[in-house]
Formats: sequence, C-alpha cells, structure tokens
Amino acid sequence: MPSDAYEAVIGIEVHCQLKTASKMFCSCSTAYDGARPNSHTCPVCLGLPGALPVINKRAVELVLSAGAAIGAWTPDATRWDRKNYFYPDLPKGYQISQYDLPLASAGMLTIDTSAGPFRVGITRAHLEEDTAKLVHGEGPMGERLSLVDFNRSGVPLMEIVTDPDIRTAEQARRYAEELQLLLRTIGASDADMERGQMRVEANVSLRPRGTEAFGTRVEVKNMNSFRSVERAIAFEIERQAAALDAGEPLRMETRGWADERGETYHMRAKETSDDYRYFPEPDLPPLRVDTAWLAQIRGELPELPAARRARYSDVLGLSAYDAAVLVADADAGTLFEATLAASPGLEAKPVANWVTGDYLRIRNAADGPVTVEPAALADLVRRVTDGSINRSSGREVLEAHVATGESIEAIVARLGLRQISDAGSLGPVVEQVLAANPDAVADVRAGKPQAIGFLVGQVMKATRGQANAGVVQAAIRQRLDGGTEPGPS
Ligand code: ADP
Ligand code: MG
Ligand code: ZN
Repeated sequence: MPSDAYEAVIGIEVHCQLKTASKMFCSCSTAYDGARPNSHTCPVCLGLPGALPVINKRAVELVLSAGAAIGAWTPDATRWDRKNYFYPDLPKGYQISQYDLPLASAGMLTIDTSAGPFRVGITRAHLEEDTAKLVHGEGPMGERLSLVDFNRSGVPLMEIVTDPDIRTAEQARRYAEELQLLLRTIGASDADMERGQMRVEANVSLRPRGTEAFGTRVEVKNMNSFRSVERAIAFEIERQAAALDAGEPLRMETRGWADERGETYHMRAKETSDDYRYFPEPDLPPLRVDTAWLAQIRGELPELPAARRARYSDVLGLSAYDAAVLVADADAGTLFEATLAASPGLEAKPVANWVTGDYLRIRNAADGPVTVEPAALADLVRRVTDGSINRSSGREVLEAHVATGESIEAIVARLGLRQISDAGSLGPVVEQVLAANPDAVADVRAGKPQAIGFLVGQVMKATRGQANAGVVQAAIRQRLDGGTEPGPS
C-alpha cells in the first residue's frame, strides 16, 4: 500500500518542570542551574529511608491553573500514588505520582495549523516528582562510569497527556508549541525544551485509512526541539508504513530519536501500567481542592494566548500572522503593547509591522539583548506614517536607536533625515538619473514597467534614501509619458 493509505494516530505526553522555588516534597531549592552536583539535596530528595514528604502548595496551584487554562475538570479530592520501578536515578525505588485521580482531566487546546484550526483533547494533567540525572562518562582509568546528580531529584513535574486525536506531524509540533506558550503565559513553567524543562514524547500508530481500530503504538522520546518532534513523527510514520507494507508486525516499544541521523532507534520494550504496581502513597494524606481556592486560581489567570490573538485580529485589526507572531514572541509582544500604551491613538497595524518586521530582524541578528524604547518606536511610527521620513530612513533610524539609545528626534537631526516629497526639489535629481540611464529609459518606453523600479532606486540612492518613492515614481512616469527625451543635465 502507498503510505497515504494509512492514517497516523498520535498522542503526545509532555513533562514540564514547574516554576517553583523549592522542590515537590522538600524545601531544597530548585535554582541548581550551574550549581555543584548534589549540592541541592536533603534526605527526602535523596530517597533516604524514613524521610517523609511534604506537599509543595505552589506546585499544586500551578497544575490547577494549567487545568483551568485548558478547561479541564478538577476533582474535589485527589491523592498520590506510588509508581514502582528501579533505576539508579530513582533511589526510593518509586516515584510519587498520580494515577487514576489526576488534578486535571478532560481539557482541550485549540491550535492553528496550515490546514486551519485543530482541537486537541487533553486526557489529563497530573503532578509528580522528577528523577535525578545520570551523567555518563569515563573514569580515571578510562573505564566507563555513570555518576548521579540529585539536584534535579524531586523537582515538581507536571505530566500532560493528550487524547489520541493528533493525525499529522505538523499538528503534533503545533500542539507542543502552543502548549509551551500557554505554560509560559500562566507562569507554570519556563518550558525550555533544550534545557529539559519541557520533554515531549510522542505515541504513534498507523491504521488503514477509513478504519476505526488503533494499530500498535510506538513511543518516541529524546526529541529536544519542536523541529525534532515534527521530524521524528514524520520518520516514524514512514517507518511504520514501510513495515506494515512489508507485512512485518510492529511491537509496542520505546524508541529514541537520533537527530543527527534523522531516524528513530529501538530503546526498550514498552512497560505497561501493570508493571508499575501503582498503589496509594501511604506517606501523604489525600489532597482536597477547595472550591474557593480553585475559583480564585481561575480568576487570576492572565489573558491566554488564544484570547490575545483574537483580540489582536478582531479588535486591533492585525493580520492573523502578525497576531500569531506577537503572541508567540514575548519580547515582540511586550514591545508592541508598550508602544501602543506609550502613544494613545497610535494605529496598531503599523506598530505591528515595525515590531514583527524590522524590530525582530534586528533582534534576531544581534548577539546581545536589543532594547527599543516604546516611546521612541511610537515616535518613529508616527513620523513614517505622516510622511516626514520615509520607510527606509525609518529603518536606519531604528538601527541607530538600537545602537545608541538616542531619541528619534536626535537621530533624525544628526543624520539630516527628512523625507523629500515636493516634486520641485526632486525634479533636478530625476532629470540627472534619466540622463544617466538611457537604457532603462528605453526599457520603460518599450513597455517594461519593471525598469521604473530601477530608476526610482537610483533617485533614492542619489538622495540617500530621503526621497518619497511614490512622488519619484509619479514624476518619472509623467516625465516619460510626456514624450520628451531627457535633456542634458
Ligand atoms: P503510557 O504511560 O503507557 O505512556 P499514557 O496514558 O501516559 O500511557 O499515554 C499514552 C499516550 O498514547 C496518550 O497520549 C494516548 O492518547 C496515546 N495513545 C494511546 N493509544 C494510542 C495508539 N494506538 N496510537 C497512538 N497513540 C496512542
Ligand atoms: Mg507514557
Ligand atoms: Zn531535598
């Protein structure tokens, strides 16, 4: 069968580190980035016998607010469960997690894709603790060894699991991107994939298009960027289709993603939940979620990404593209909002254009942080809109502002920039340019309108970008349609 004879069924599991000051069940600090290994530890997060856990209230709040943000349901009372397994990064021999009573269930997230909006059901979001970190290396005699760093052990983790709703690699990537944006917006997690604060796993299976029953699923791990998520799933879909075509049975397995090789590889057979021998955690009381507490958390949610995009396009009249960029990029969104706030009455659309265009271009090319004063950007946009400087001068002014922090007024004065719009002072320059470029003039006369652009460009060059391009173009047209040959300059 050709591979489009199959439909992919995909479910995504995301683990994200919650943004709390201390760990999930002890008071060790979570600010261990760059710290000495095993310097943020205590008997609880080292898993020493007899140490008892204490619940971090803030972590619970962050999961409740994530639940509220995805419209999930939260039970009045929930509890903790032990997930038992052995691994050197888990010295207790079990992870404290939540099994059948997660803090949030039955939510959803709507994403925008190239084929339009798509709704992803979210089965559950629950709270658990992170494991320690294994560091594999070489010992003094060249022997292979693994070291354990417990600084990460016991950091609060939220696991968010989708329904098997996703059908394409693109939808999966977009879901992960939108979830990251949501988690950052509500302050639940920094969700940086490269730093392991957000880990995405994909469950992928195929079924013959038009059939209902799900095929055997494979879990894919170790994808460290959104791009890898999309590539790994696309690879896995192709791999499974080829296997099914060849009549090879698929097995439940966990596969890793090798980014350099661009392929998935077998890691281990998949455990099932029976293997984990879940049972209620005896060291912790059940967790009751007070209705008033939940209502307060709901009430304190900030404007969510979807609502903000809708406000930008419906109320401010921005394009869907600009709205998406401004909401997805925190710096750009902040600059946009602050610029409008700095100058009441300023039109939103040109501000959005400057921010998504020139500001982001400058920022993305810069090595260090880039600062644009909102009041300065407002001033610049106003000057370009009312025609006192042209767009390309405006660009130069913005670059100068980023470089020096000077006011727009000072830069315009220093560079001697103002837009020349009167045909009278542009006339002699236009004449010079026409005289110097007889070939282009002949092309325009021969009905090649592209040649006009070249001539306008020459005038812009001669005026150091200060000419009003529209006025120049009209002057050239009029001059050439008038029929007279350019005279000597
Ligand atoms: P496990 O702990 O075994 O990984 P979870 O319930 O945490 O199980 O996650 C299973 C994920 O796999 C969910 O996102 C679910 O939607 C998805 N899923 C379940 N069955 C299939 C299937 N046949 N094909 C693809 N994804 C599936
Ligand atoms: Mg899983
Ligand atoms: Zn600790």
